[in-house]
Amino acid sequence: MRLAVVEDDEGFGDALVTALRMKDYQADHFRRGSDLLLHHQRFDAVILDLGLPDMDGLDVLRKLREVSVVPVLILTARAGERAVIRGLRAGADDYLTKPPRVGELVARIESITRRTRRPTVPVETVIVTGDVRVDLTSRRVQVGGVPIVLTNKEFELVRVLVERPGAAVSRQQLMDQVWGDAFAAVSRALDVHMAALRAKLGRPRLITTIRGYGYRWEVEAKRE
Ligand code: CA
Repeated sequence: MRLAVVEDDEGFGDALVTALRMKDYQADHFRRGSDLLLHHQRFDAVILDLGLPDMDGLDVLRKLREVSVVPVLILTARAGERAVIRGLRAGADDYLTKPPRVGELVARIESITRRTRRPTVPVETVIVTGDVRVDLTSRRVQVGGVPIVLTNKEFELVRVLVERPGAAVSRQQLMDQVWGDAFAAVSRALDVHMAALRAKLGRPRLITTIRGYGYRWEVEAKRE
């Protein structure tokens, strides 16, 4: 995993990069927020200081969020609930105050990258299978020309499945991408939401259960 460390304090930044490299991360050190905005595409996650010489870290983050969903952990001396809330509202995925415990920092980085990791963006944003039409951009699903109302979780299940049409998707993949945790106690929740989704779709053969593994969104609509 490639990490960008944005930190203007040379000593602290160098020590942090060294500690991360000892944990087998690739870490690059930037001193200015504008450097991150130029190079963010190369990284899987960002550790962002707020007090930076060229612009405030929150402004860096807002700009970054216009173009990128890369996971960002704010690491700052600014403590207190209000500062944390501002950081999260500006688009941070997590927030730690200095000095960090490296083990905790690494665990948090792993957590936010797990939650935000996404498969490659599908080329198609509208997927039509038989009379079922899924529009990923507007998050709308129609069956037989009639819009159906899905909960957020139900739609996310659809999204993950149709991003790999015809391919088997494991329960872990679904739980990881919809709930952010492949191995927590959401297995039952997956069953419940899948049952509700199938009932709403009303097309029993559209989503095939692969016993002991997961599910598959069928490419060819079978006759119901
Ligand atoms: Ca600073």
